[in-house]
Amino acid sequence: MKTPASAGNNAILRSGRIVRVGFIAAMVLIVGISLFAVFALRQASGALDQLVYNEQLAMELQFRMLQAARERSVELYYVATIEDPFEIDAHVLHFGELGGRFGSARNKLMQLDLDAKSRSLLEKQGREAAVIIGLMDEVISLALQGRRDEAISLLVNQAIPAQEAMMATINAMLERQIGASHRKAEALQRQQGLSAWLLVVAGLAAALLAVLIARHVRQGMGALLGEISAAVQNLQEANRQLEYQKLALDQHDILAITDVYGDITYVNDKFCETSQHNREELIGRNHRVLKSGLHPDSFYRELWDTVTHGRVWKGEMCNRRKDGSLYWVATTIVPFLDDVGLPYQYVSVRTDITDIKQAQEVLLRGREELERLVQERTVELAEREEMLRSITRYAHDGVIMLDPAGRITFWNPAAENIFGYAEAEVQGRDLRQMLTSDAQAGGFRDDFEAFLQSGADAFLGKTFELAASRKEGGEVFVEISLSLVKVKGNWHAVGIVRDITARKRAERHLEFLAMTDPLTGAANRRRFDEALHAEIARSRHYAGPLSLIIFDIDHFKQVNDRLGHPVGDRALTQLAQRVSANIRETDVFARLGGEEFAILVSGCDADCACRFAEKLRCAIEQQAFPEVGTLTCSFGVAEYRKTDDEKALVKRADEALYRAKGAGRNRVVVADGAA
Ligand code: GH3
Ligand code: MG
Ligand code: MG
Repeated sequence: MKTPASAGNNAILRSGRIVRVGFIAAMVLIVGISLFAVFALRQASGALDQLVYNEQLAMELQFRMLQAARERSVELYYVATIEDPFEIDAHVLHFGELGGRFGSARNKLMQLDLDAKSRSLLEKQGREAAVIIGLMDEVISLALQGRRDEAISLLVNQAIPAQEAMMATINAMLERQIGASHRKAEALQRQQGLSAWLLVVAGLAAALLAVLIARHVRQGMGALLGEISAAVQNLQEANRQLEYQKLALDQHDILAITDVYGDITYVNDKFCETSQHNREELIGRNHRVLKSGLHPDSFYRELWDTVTHGRVWKGEMCNRRKDGSLYWVATTIVPFLDDVGLPYQYVSVRTDITDIKQAQEVLLRGREELERLVQERTVELAEREEMLRSITRYAHDGVIMLDPAGRITFWNPAAENIFGYAEAEVQGRDLRQMLTSDAQAGGFRDDFEAFLQSGADAFLGKTFELAASRKEGGEVFVEISLSLVKVKGNWHAVGIVRDITARKRAERHLEFLAMTDPLTGAANRRRFDEALHAEIARSRHYAGPLSLIIFDIDHFKQVNDRLGHPVGDRALTQLAQRVSANIRETDVFARLGGEEFAILVSGCDADCACRFAEKLRCAIEQQAFPEVGTLTCSFGVAEYRKTDDEKALVKRADEALYRAKGAGRNRVVVADGAA
């Protein structure tokens, strides 16, 4: 995070850098341009000096040569014209001296730095001089021989014109020299002027640049000053916040500062208050003065190891007050590090957590007690569960448990025996899917649905008789008594299941016996009456046809009389079997008494019943009975009419039978109609 202090420092550093760079740049520029301008000026000035010196020397030497040449011409004239030999010698001598001067000046001129043109002129002058010297020597020789006319003539006609030509060459050199000097001087003046201009321009540019740099520095400084002032403001604000925080810390936390040896250098009031020591007793003392002795040495070693390596230590620590009592503090120790990263002091902030610690201890004890109780109860519950499991395991009756969705959750071995399914096979299955369509199951289903929807005690104390399919096939009859238990807020049903198949079979058998004729196995009169009543009601309700056939064995008295009553009985039984084999399952075949039988044929009108009776009549007549031979029967048929009650229908069938007997027996007669 960027603190105000670091922002201020950065701004100051940046401002210093800008000023330094700006100053150095301006100075380098000014010095550079000045040096260049001075160098250029000095160059120009030196060149000018050299030029002036050279040109002056050259011109002076050329003047000297001209002078000497002119004087030699004069001396030679004297030599040619005067007569006195001593004077001639003196002039010849002077002539020679002048020649020396001429040569000396020319030699010096040769040594000067001349351009090619000047040098070629000088060489030309040399060649001309050689000719002149020859001519002049000849003039002198003629003059010395006294041949003055010849000497004068040679002088005037040849030597002097040659001398003048040579002097013209020297003059040309001189003029050329002067012209060149002028040109060089002008060039140097131009260079000097340019250098002066350059100096002025460079000075102006340096001044402009300096102004620009100064402006930039001013702008940069302005922005930096803004930043510095903002940073200072932030610093002041941060300081204020720190003051508040320190105040808050002082109010709520225990503060202490120690040096690297653990000797206390600062404590706040809260520290004194909590430890019961006054400030004078603490400052300069080692922090060990508060050691409680409760923590092992390793605890302090770990603490010191952390802070001496520059890391923050946090933990709970028990300290001792002046009066010897203990107090707990949640402690944070922050090492303050110097430039090389080594701690130079430790600042610790502590919060008194003695109350919390005591509460924690109480809670801990409470929890231990609770855990102990839970353990006891768990063992108890496990024992109880084991006991219940043993009871249910060895119980003769099945014990099952159903969840609120009707799914099986428990199934004891007895239930396994009853239904043939192992517990694992039925876990999660819906008990209702195992029920067969027993009449009682409907009631169970309704009540069970009500239980599932409302959780109400529709089952409570109820016993249902149900039929269920066994795993290996067949039906098992059970009696289930249900009760409810609440598990995790939901009602579960617990059922005690008893196998009542044997009882149910006995009951059914008794029922069968109560409704069956013992001799023939056909339905008895009571069953017949019930069926007649029910069928008439059904026919009335659905408006379906219903017919009654009554038949009686012909002359049966004679059979008894002839063969004995037991044979008669067996014949009766055999006849009933033959009839039973020829009727539909829905027909009710009953023995009304003696050797008189009835068949209640539902869904059949008079014609249909008549055909049926005829078929039976034939079946009885056509096959002989083992002991008695052929037997015949007479049949009376009556179709139910709306006006009929049970008695009326029987009566009409009876009347038809009577008429059949009367008509010769072994025939079928329909009531209210012909046979
Ligand atoms: P019909 O009906 O043709 O007029 O002559 P019938 O000889 O059969 O006369 P009826 O029906 O009046 O006689 C009934 C006889 O059936 C009387 C009795 O000897 C015989 N009988 C009735 N009940 C039994 C019985 O349970 N066992 C035996 N063996 N005979 C019975
Ligand atoms: Mg009879
Ligand atoms: Mg009879």
